[in-house]
Amino acid sequence: MKLNIERLQENLKIQCHECHGLCCVALYFSKIDGFPEDKLAGNPCNHLLDNNQCHIYNSLKEMKMKGCMIYDCFGAGQIVSQKLPSWRSSENAMVIFGVFQKVVQLQQMLSYLIDAYHIHPNFQLEQLILENLKVRENVLNNSTVDLDKYHQKVSQRLKEICQQYTHDLSMRIMIGEDFRGKDCCNYVFLGTDLRDAKVENADLSQSLFLTQIQLNGCHGNRYTKIPKNLLRPRTWEK
Ligand code: SF4
Repeated sequence: MKLNIERLQENLKIQCHECHGLCCVALYFSKIDGFPEDKLAGNPCNHLLDNNQCHIYNSLKEMKMKGCMIYDCFGAGQIVSQKLPSWRSSENAMVIFGVFQKVVQLQQMLSYLIDAYHIHPNFQLEQLILENLKVRENVLNNSTVDLDKYHQKVSQRLKEICQQYTHDLSMRIMIGEDFRGKDCCNYVFLGTDLRDAKVENADLSQSLFLTQIQLNGCHGNRYTKIPKNLLRPRTWEK
């Protein structure tokens, strides 16, 4: 199979209008994390409308629903919704939610692999990307997959890449950290907790393994340079 990286990258962007509102139902929420209520996985949020739109979408910022504003499923919602029936009409809604959570993990790994591939294109990464698509297909078909094994392989490869960088902030807790005005092009942000980090005027355009969720949780402005494949958070200063 020939890799179409641009297309895969495009599919990592969320298209909420093509999703059955999966993140607002399938996930466990707590109020303390900036969600509207404490709820169990599998229960729809009270603000989710019958058409799968959020009733308070335009007021999330004013209502301080940080959790909702930050969350990003890496495009898993639309992928699952295209393939499987809506949880509303399904007798196996919990199966659909389980599939969704696995596809989120796979899409997150895919996002890292594509980032790495842009910088170090090689056969090994190409094989891991192809394997990701195969595993995802099996998950969507509800076939048995060894997600942990695949995850370990990807982690190992990503770790090796991170070691080549001098500013490796992988898995570090950097809540509220000040990156204002910094050139972060050589920084690795694999799994870094960047909640409330200040990135006004910073250059993140070449930062490695930065995800949309991390970016959504930072405080940036219109001068913050962001990677081409990510979207400027709508809550940032215009
Ligand atoms: S408030 Fe809106 S975005 Fe947040 S979980 Fe509920 S329906 Fe989803």
